[in-house]
Amino acid sequence: MPPTDMMPDRPAADEIRKRIHIRHRVIWLILIMAVLIVAERAHSLFSERQAEIDRATSQLKAIAQIVALTEKEAISSATAVTQALSMQAQSLLSDPESCGDLLKRIASEMIGVQGGMITDAAGVVRCASVRALLGIDLSDRPYMREARTAQRAVLSDFLVARSTGRPTFAVTEAQRDASGEPIAFAGIALDLQWISRLAAQVGAQAGAVVTVLDSTGIVLARHPATSGTVGAPYRNPETLAHLQSQDEGTLEGRGLDGSMRMFAFLRIPGTGLRVLVSRDKDAVVGAIDRRILATMASLLVAIALFMALALAAAHRLIVAPLNRLAADVLSVGRGEATAIGEVGVEEIHPVLEAYTEMSARLQERAAELRNINGRLAAIASTDGLTGLANRRTFDVQFSEDWVRCADTGRPLALIMADVDNFKLFNDSMGHPAGDEVLREVARMVAAAVAGPGRLVARYGGEEFIVLLPDTDAASAIEYAETARRLVVALDIPHPKVPMGRLTASFGVAATLPRSGEPPDSVLAAADAALYEAKRLGRNRVVGGRVAQPVDGIA
Ligand code: GH3
Ligand code: MG
Ligand code: MG
Repeated sequence: MPPTDMMPDRPAADEIRKRIHIRHRVIWLILIMAVLIVAERAHSLFSERQAEIDRATSQLKAIAQIVALTEKEAISSATAVTQALSMQAQSLLSDPESCGDLLKRIASEMIGVQGGMITDAAGVVRCASVRALLGIDLSDRPYMREARTAQRAVLSDFLVARSTGRPTFAVTEAQRDASGEPIAFAGIALDLQWISRLAAQVGAQAGAVVTVLDSTGIVLARHPATSGTVGAPYRNPETLAHLQSQDEGTLEGRGLDGSMRMFAFLRIPGTGLRVLVSRDKDAVVGAIDRRILATMASLLVAIALFMALALAAAHRLIVAPLNRLAADVLSVGRGEATAIGEVGVEEIHPVLEAYTEMSARLQERAAELRNINGRLAAIASTDGLTGLANRRTFDVQFSEDWVRCADTGRPLALIMADVDNFKLFNDSMGHPAGDEVLREVARMVAAAVAGPGRLVARYGGEEFIVLLPDTDAASAIEYAETARRLVVALDIPHPKVPMGRLTASFGVAATLPRSGEPPDSVLAAADAALYEAKRLGRNRVVGGRVAQPVDGIA
């Protein structure tokens, strides 16, 4: 019997679908907890990361500001010198010798100044710190054209100094007559390497890259110095376009080496120059990024471990005890055990108690049923009136004994008994008296043949049959004779017969059973013998003939 058949109500199919494993519940619970914990940790770590980025950005901005200020100061002092020169340009030109000496002195004594020159109104160099410049016509230079109209000092874009071949840019201002027409120009070339050094000094500590660009995007200075960058256009057009479109700002983008960098930029006030400060983003967020990875990895490992532990605990504390309980209930149900074992879990204990009570009740019922079954079996196998075995019991026992005697080679005998003129007795004494007589006769027949293995049965209305295994014909005839005498000895009056008392007739037959041979022959022989006893006048025993003669009854 499958276990589910023992349950009184099978759950419907959709109820089964609603069942969820404890395992799955535990996994879900832990996953929800894990998501909350991971989200909280991730939030705080990413906030820290953002704070790190913000700090680096404002640091970059501050550096840009300082560099811009420093540059602005350098340019301002160069502009002041240029202004001073321009105010006396014409008078200086009147003595080119001393003019040249003055410019040489300025170049050698002023830090960052590479050289100076003074041109005539047409823009031809008339006096210079370097002789090679004398006589050169600068009128077509953009900064000269701008200085011709501008009422202030003009900054050139990036230049390569003709005299030294070094990167430079020029500050130029015109001297004007009363009508405002330029009568001479004074100019100073600023040393870009010097500017680089200035930038380097302020940017160095922070590990930042400082770049100074002119208004066209040519790199004027860079720290740390990289060969080929100064004097060349800035190599990242996207970043360049962005920083040329605004006076100041921040951005992120790929550096020249392809790594992600953070930028802050600033236009130097009053000039077209721009300061660009950048840092490798990994240097800013690398450490915290690694910490985020490590934290997440260890959280995942911890969650996995916790989940394994929780699943093991759920199994040990809930699933296994329930399985033990189910197994115990099953074996009690199958009758293999009588009690349900303790599961060791307080919460499961009520289930255990309920099952124990149920099993006790079931056992009581089973005992009752066994009792009833036993009684029913007895009823089914006995005759209600006489208490003897009934014919069905006789049939079963007869075929069993037949086979056994055939196997052992022992004889088997039958006695058939019938009350004489019983119809007349009923008619004269009444049916209840007849019943009583049947009980008495049954008692006498049973007493006459009593012994182990023998069976007396009520065969029909007032007929009885005796099964005598391991008994030969002679013994059987003796038993029958005893029974006949006992019936006579009952001395029951039967006024309708000549003898005046109740008697019975007996037919006896015996044989050596053979396996495979039907037992009907001995039954027929006993019946025929009984018939013969009636024919001969009743109240007698007749031994019948079976197909094979047995023990002299031939
Ligand atoms: P015989 O000597 O030839 O056997 O004559 P008999 O009258 O005994 O035989 P018969 O077969 O003519 O009658 C049998 C009678 O047995 C008929 C029936 O009323 C009676 N009888 C059968 N069963 C019962 C029973 O359970 N109780 C009573 N009181 N009578 C029974
Ligand atoms: Mg009869
Ligand atoms: Mg009879």
